[in-house]
Amino acid sequence: MHLPLRTVKRSALCAILLCMPLRSTALPLAARASHPVSLVDDPRVQLALDWFKKNQTWIDAQQIRLTEIPAPSFEEENRAEAVKALLGDSGLTVHTDKLGNVIGELRGANEKEIVLVTAHLDTVFPAGTPIKVLHEGQRLVAPGISDNGTGLAGLLALVRAIRASQIIPQRTILFAANVGEEGEGNLRGMRALIDAYRTKLRAVIVLDGSGTDHVTTKALASRRMEAVITGPGGHSWSDFGMPNPINALVRGALRFINSKVPVAPRTTFNLGQVEGGTSVNSIPYEAKLKVDLRSESEEEIVRLEIAFRESMSAGVRDEMDNARDRTKGRLDWKINVIGSRPGGELPADSPLLAALRSADEYLGNQSRIERSSTDANIPLSLGIDAMAIGAGGNGGGAHSLQEWYEPADREFGLKRALLSLLGIAGVAPEKGSH
Ligand SMILES: [Zn+2]
Repeated sequence: MHLPLRTVKRSALCAILLCMPLRSTALPLAARASHPVSLVDDPRVQLALDWFKKNQTWIDAQQIRLTEIPAPSFEEENRAEAVKALLGDSGLTVHTDKLGNVIGELRGANEKEIVLVTAHLDTVFPAGTPIKVLHEGQRLVAPGISDNGTGLAGLLALVRAIRASQIIPQRTILFAANVGEEGEGNLRGMRALIDAYRTKLRAVIVLDGSGTDHVTTKALASRRMEAVITGPGGHSWSDFGMPNPINALVRGALRFINSKVPVAPRTTFNLGQVEGGTSVNSIPYEAKLKVDLRSESEEEIVRLEIAFRESMSAGVRDEMDNARDRTKGRLDWKINVIGSRPGGELPADSPLLAALRSADEYLGNQSRIERSSTDANIPLSLGIDAMAIGAGGNGGGAHSLQEWYEPADREFGLKRALLSLLGIAGVAPEKGSH
């Protein structure tokens, strides 16, 4: 090792995670006390931090290659295979679970505790979308290049940096490239990972997109529901008086629109899609309505969900009560939940947030807390410490065909991710040291 071996003992009393003067008063003493030895004084950690800049070209190349392998939600296999090979090459024990999540294990000194690092494989772009990464000056342009090409490249870079510097973590680290984050994927990959490792899991770090200016510690709860109302259907003239599913849907929707929602916690609803009917002179046999409900509070979401069910039920009842001829059949209805993302929050005094804040402190980075809907929703909703961060560089145009990414200064974000990860996973002492 070419790095000077600085004394580690010096910081034994320092009781500060990264041994930097702390401007923030938010850091809990408990988190500092659990890291009496400074992380950044460990020469292996310095070696890992240096790895990113030296290997920029390799990291960029992986990001471009992976982005060009199409991976719509539910069709991630090819991209997953490529990530699996790369994790295996880095010396991790890798397997694919039955949903298609790729999981690489870096065994820690303490195998009973796990820290999970993830990046989602899937994109919002349907199969057949042309994906070729274009170079426009400093920019890489392609659908999915940042969300989540950056996260996947970051995941691989973290693994390589840790392996190259021969760091053995205290807790076991699982590096996972997961399926099903976007849209109707409905966080299914993360749900399976949490199910599989829940009892040993101590923290989850989600790498999603680019940047270093935020940390998502608050999970935005959402529900997506579809009401389906059906009836016998008939002729507009000869069957007039028969209960009509579209009438029932309109009656129910009107009731629902009048639901009161609070400004704080911010709560929203949207009637997003209406379907039904076959022609203007037919009484329809089916009507469908899709709604999207969101709130900063899980309680409000549940309240709104109940309001939607009650409104649709009342709409059907009103229509049946008003039907002129009930012998011509009745209406049936059901509500399908087509998406559910639970809410939750990382406590302000969590060791995971302290690790991130210490990393920011060491790097001189400013970041703000954000509320958003990410893979972190699942662990946060279950009380497991989790956060989502960008994997460095700059990006924009997510979910559009003009999506772009600028890798300049990427290593800054990767250092932030690495220090957060090692801060929460811990670094086992070198063999032979005391
Ligand atoms: Zn994403």
